[in-house]
Amino acid sequence: MPELPEVETVVKSLAATCQGLTATEIKFYRKDIREPIPIPQFRKALLKQAVVSVERRSKYIIMNTKTGSAIFHLGMSGQLLALKSKKPQFKHTHLVMTFTGEAQNIYLHFVDPRRFGRISAHLGEAWEQHPFFGQLGCEPLEQRSLGTYLWNYGKKSNRPIKSLLMDSKVVVGIGNIYACESLFLAGVHPERSAASLSPKDYQAIAAAAKKTLRLAIKAGGTSIKDFKSMEGKSGYFAISLNVYGRSDESCNICGNSIGHIKQSGRSTWFCGLCQK
Ligand SMILES: [Zn+2]
Repeated sequence: MPELPEVETVVKSLAATCQGLTATEIKFYRKDIREPIPIPQFRKALLKQAVVSVERRSKYIIMNTKTGSAIFHLGMSGQLLALKSKKPQFKHTHLVMTFTGEAQNIYLHFVDPRRFGRISAHLGEAWEQHPFFGQLGCEPLEQRSLGTYLWNYGKKSNRPIKSLLMDSKVVVGIGNIYACESLFLAGVHPERSAASLSPKDYQAIAAAAKKTLRLAIKAGGTSIKDFKSMEGKSGYFAISLNVYGRSDESCNICGNSIGHIKQSGRSTWFCGLCQK
């Protein structure tokens, strides 16, 4: 599943590929994926308009023109691929956008086998007003005092710190892998209640989350230009994992066996000695 670092990489790649180009043809192969696609609004926002910028909010990709914004979410298995052919190259291609450039055309294919992705649009400048964005928490890499911000949520809450970190209404983009790794780096046990942690713990967690996400982004995530790398390589495979997925292997710090538990149905890995 594409996580924040992969989406950030796609956004950078899209900006480098499509910014300044104009969509001259938009062809949908379905009227819906996870939900109905607002096709007329999508066309109005994107067609015959130069792409001004490409942004990310949470795991949404937002492509802006002067008229509005095209909005994408990759869901579980979605991909945006810049290909040289207009014809769908892969099964489950739901949308092909032709961008006309001076040197050559770029064909951006939205491919999503499991169809948990989203395609939408917003007309006008303020895409933040789209219903997708109403309930989202802060951006972890943009929030200045992330530790204090998290502490303000956590100090009154009895939920486990890991579930607070993974709550997109509090903070977006900290998926399971990043929550496990950040808590290890911060030395905080994932089952600790949010209210039991000190402001200092929250500073450590915030610093660890930012570090982990930045490393994964730096590792490159994936590129929309190369389907092979998109297919096999994710940012989190390129960062060295301390606990995630390492059941019964030994801790890199203390040699203790890595523990595995379930929390709200999700797997959690941790070191019982390093994380208090
Ligand atoms: Zn350890």
